[in-house]
Amino acid sequence: MYLDKTILERLKLFRETDYRIEDIHLFRDITEDNRQLIADIIKDCMVVRAYTGQVVLDANSSGAKLFIVLKGALGVSRITEESNQLENTITQYLPGECVGEISVLDEEIHSATISAINECELLLIEAETLWRLIDESNGVARNLLQLLSFRIRAANAQIRSRQKVGEFYRQLSMVDGLTGLHNRAWLNAQLPGMVQHAHATGAALSIIMVDLDHFKRFNDEHGHLLGDDALQTAAKVLNAGLRPSDFAARYGGEEMMVILPGASHKSAMGVAQRLCSRLAKTKVFIDRQKPLPHITGSFGVASLSAGQDSNELISCADAALYRAKDNGRNQVAN
Ligand code: GH3
Ligand code: MG
Ligand code: MG
Repeated sequence: MYLDKTILERLKLFRETDYRIEDIHLFRDITEDNRQLIADIIKDCMVVRAYTGQVVLDANSSGAKLFIVLKGALGVSRITEESNQLENTITQYLPGECVGEISVLDEEIHSATISAINECELLLIEAETLWRLIDESNGVARNLLQLLSFRIRAANAQIRSRQKVGEFYRQLSMVDGLTGLHNRAWLNAQLPGMVQHAHATGAALSIIMVDLDHFKRFNDEHGHLLGDDALQTAAKVLNAGLRPSDFAARYGGEEMMVILPGASHKSAMGVAQRLCSRLAKTKVFIDRQKPLPHITGSFGVASLSAGQDSNELISCADAALYRAKDNGRNQVAN
C-alpha cells in the first residue's frame, strides 16, 4: 500500500491543528526571528492523517517528502519471512520526530517502509520547502546535520550487530552437525589457501584421508543410530590426537580428513599410524548382548609436492587410502 489518495483527501492546513513549532525537533533551539521565518516558510504545508497500519513511506519507492509526526507514532516495518506480512519493528518515530529526510536530501528511493503504528497526524514538507528551510535557517541546517549523524550512528550499530549474527551463522554453517568437526564447506574454503600458503612459504603440508572400514556393515549390524555414535567416536579420536595447529574435517559420509600444516610426509605417516591404532582400540559403546564393537579405519597420507593444487593433493590422499583398503584395511598407506 502506497501513500494513498485517502491520506491526501483528508489533509488539513497546518494552521488548523494545534502544534507548536518548538515541539518539532528539526526546529529546536532556534531564535525567535528564525522561528518566525520557519513559520512563514511552512505556513502552506499540509497536515495529513494516517490510520493505524497505513503505509506512509514505501521502501524502494521514491517521492521526496519529509513527514513530521505531530500526533501518534510511526514505525519502521519489514516483511517477515515467515508470514510474508508487514510487521512493525522497535524503531518508532514519536511526535516531534521526522522521517524521509534522507530521501529528500539524496533524491534516492526510501530504504525502509514506514507505517502508522496508531492514528497519526503528520506535517508534510515537500523537498523544495525543506531545501528552502535549510538555505534560510542555519538552525534548521544544524538540527538536520545532528539528526543525520544520529541516523548514521544508529545504522552503523545495526550493521555491526547484523555482521555479528552473520558471522555466527557463517561459523555454524562451517561445522558438521553430527561430529562437530569442520565440514566440507569449510574444507573447500580453507584448504586452497593453506596449499597456497605452503607453496609461498616453502612450508610442508600433509593431509590424511580417513575412511571407516566396513561401515555399512556396522550400520547393518547395529543400526544407524549406533552408526552415528561410532562416527562421533571416530571424530573424537581424530580430534584428540591432533595439535592445535592441525585440523580435522568431515569430508562426507564416513570419510574424514586431517590437515597437518607444516608436517613432513614422515611425521604425517607417524600421526596417521597413531590415529589408526587409537581408533582400533576405542570402544564405541557397550552393548550387553553383543561383544564390544570396535571400529577401524583406513588412512591415506599425502604430502604437498611442487606445483600441486588442493584437488591434486586430495586425489593423492584418496589413492593412498584405496591402497590401505586393498592391503586389508585398518592400516596406513601412502
Ligand atoms: P569400506 O571399508 O570399503 O569403506 O566399506 P564401507 O561399508 O565403509 O563403505 P561404503 O561406502 O560401502 O559405505 C559407507 C557407509 O557409511 C554407508 C553409509 O550408510 C554410512 N554412513 C555414511 N554417513 C553416515 C552417517 O552419517 N551415519 C551413519 N550411521 N552412517 C553413515
Ligand atoms: Mg567411504
Ligand atoms: Mg568406509
